[in-house]
Amino acid sequence: MYLIAGAGITGITVAERLAAHGEDVTIVEKRDHIGGNCYDYRTADGIFVQRYGPHIFHETDQSIVEYLSQFTDWLPYRHKVVALYRGEYYPIPINKTTISRFFGVDLEHEEAVRRFLAAKQVELDEVRTSRDVVLSKYGEELYEAFVRHYTKKQWDHYPEELDRSILERLPVRYDDNPYYFNDAFQALPGEGYTKMFERMVDHPRIRVVLDTDFADVTDRDSYEKTVFTGRIDQYYGFDLGELQYRCIDFRFETLNTEHFQPYPVVNYPGPEVEYTRCTEFKHFYGLDAPRTVILREYPSWEGEPSYPVINKANQERFQRYVERSRNETDVVFAGRSGRFRYLNMNQAVQEARDLATSLRSGASS
Ligand SMILES: Cc1cc2nc3c(=O)[nH]c(=O)nc-3n(C[C@H](O)[C@H](O)[C@H](O)COP(=O)(O)OP(=O)(O)OC[C@H]3O[C@@H](n4cnc5c(N)ncnc54)[C@H](O)[C@@H]3O)c2cc1C
Repeated sequence: MYLIAGAGITGITVAERLAAHGEDVTIVEKRDHIGGNCYDYRTADGIFVQRYGPHIFHETDQSIVEYLSQFTDWLPYRHKVVALYRGEYYPIPINKTTISRFFGVDLEHEEAVRRFLAAKQVELDEVRTSRDVVLSKYGEELYEAFVRHYTKKQWDHYPEELDRSILERLPVRYDDNPYYFNDAFQALPGEGYTKMFERMVDHPRIRVVLDTDFADVTDRDSYEKTVFTGRIDQYYGFDLGELQYRCIDFRFETLNTEHFQPYPVVNYPGPEVEYTRCTEFKHFYGLDAPRTVILREYPSWEGEPSYPVINKANQERFQRYVERSRNETDVVFAGRSGRFRYLNMNQAVQEARDLATSLRSGASS
């Protein structure tokens, strides 16, 4: 018999895999819904709203897609993000169109973009900070317009205060590919994420108990093993210190208008507004409705813990928790908060399936 703390995509996938192999599982979830941060619901107008920010499923490994396809059909959806800067929309990640529009030049082909950008890139003796990385890729103007203030809002630090590794993977696209993700499969669950999760836990061997914190479970000893998908630092009462998360204050608004913005997600890279982006949900499922729901995201140090702050101090602290957890024989830590890592949904599913396999074989005891 297994106990799982957390009914997010990690906990639900582990539960589904264990139950499918004849194990009994109880999931306790402290919120009043399943799905963790991927939870969505439908408004009275039929609009799917994602309570913890826009989530797009993208994956290249076909076996993960096939696994989830047992529980949902899919609406093909290729995600585009734009940034609104001084009244104009620019594709993000920065690509040929962004550069041409921003500088008012006509760059015909990739080679022309490379040459143009090469003249803008700042040559530095040493690339040490995130600012250095971006200046050497994009040059001063694009950095200032699209990266500097956005980073400050997102992480509460300017790029010059962040290690180079934080922004190292910002891509430059020399072509005009406008899509945000590169994966072969990009889609949304046809009836939403929550419906998919409901089907995953709809099994006689799975019991889901909502509104229940793991800390309040009194019969923990009656379970063979616990899979804890909440915060590892919280599990240990923060006694080795707190792991930092950047949080998001999600502010929703329902507007009596058909459309608010021409794209599903618009980034606001400038310092003139405090939020980082605005999502208009009805774009995702292409719905006609007289009203619309938008979400503005205000990064903060309070609110929903969303992004683990990956720096040296936090990683060292996390390692100390990991060392400590090695003494546990009946608890394993999983998911984005248990492992203190940013995980996409597809990665969470992959890791959860692997964990269920190793639990059944006794490898993770
Ligand atoms: C703003 C944002 C946008 C994102 N967009 C995408 C995207 O477009 N595509 C993508 O692939 N990924 C995206 N992600 C990542 C995605 O949210 C994660 O992959 C996913 O949430 C990981 O699931 P999880 O189960 O590990 O964690 P969670 O979703 O956090 O679930 C953990 C669950 O455990 C519960 N819990 C915690 N502690 C306890 C406790 N003590 N007792 C009981 N229950 C507890 C929590 O309430 C929660 O329900 C995004 C993340 C963020 C923050």
